[in-house]
Amino acid sequence: MTQNKAISPYVVKKASLAIGDRQVHFTIKRSVRARNVRIEIRPETGLSVILPRGYSVEKVEELIRSKSRWIALHLEDISPGSGQWLTRELQTGDTVPFLGESLKVVVLHHTGEPVNVQQDNRCLYINMGKSIDGTREQLNGWYKKQAHKILPPMVNKFCARMNVTYNRLYILGQNTRWGSCSHKKNISLNWKLLKMPQRVIEYVIIHELAHLKEMNHTPRFWEVVAMYCQDWRECRAFLKKFPEGKVSL
Ligand SMILES: [Zn+2]
Repeated sequence: MTQNKAISPYVVKKASLAIGDRQVHFTIKRSVRARNVRIEIRPETGLSVILPRGYSVEKVEELIRSKSRWIALHLEDISPGSGQWLTRELQTGDTVPFLGESLKVVVLHHTGEPVNVQQDNRCLYINMGKSIDGTREQLNGWYKKQAHKILPPMVNKFCARMNVTYNRLYILGQNTRWGSCSHKKNISLNWKLLKMPQRVIEYVIIHELAHLKEMNHTPRFWEVVAMYCQDWRECRAFLKKFPEGKVSL
């Protein structure tokens, strides 16, 4: 089959978006023949969004977010090429999520300083010293450090408010859970929560602390959650879009 160049989809722009702990890169194309918007994932080209005539480029970000779960699953499928692409080193200009904001990454090399990560407002400076790679490890280390700083005071604030006490707080990097509460009254929270908006983090904390009152997911449990987090339904729905983890039993 031959294809007329004039009517094959043409590239409008290349862009990227932080979804969960990934920076998803994609190409926006427009096709004069397409009748509906469609998302394609191919090993050689990665993720493309093909827009029909009249479909606004501004709507693409929302579209990708709404399909983020599907996209994440399928991007995994087409490894190894895209797998490497997803875990590629961070570069200046990439963005990473932090407490509901996007931080712009600036990667520095050979500054004479030791390896370190510093946040300044909406910028995250990753100083790699003499190392060539390892930006992702540095970033994750920074997230963990922030989690140890930010999460315990939040937990303690809600403990006081909810009149509950826990035994130990663990900050972990589980792949399947945002948080948990054990029968021994130990709370664990995922450091990847730092990539979520504050109110979503609060919801997870309230959810786990509510288990100190109700070790189940009965309507009574949700009543407790709702007392301290009115928009728990929205927060829960928000988390479900991310394949990294779900709120545990
Ligand atoms: Zn639960």
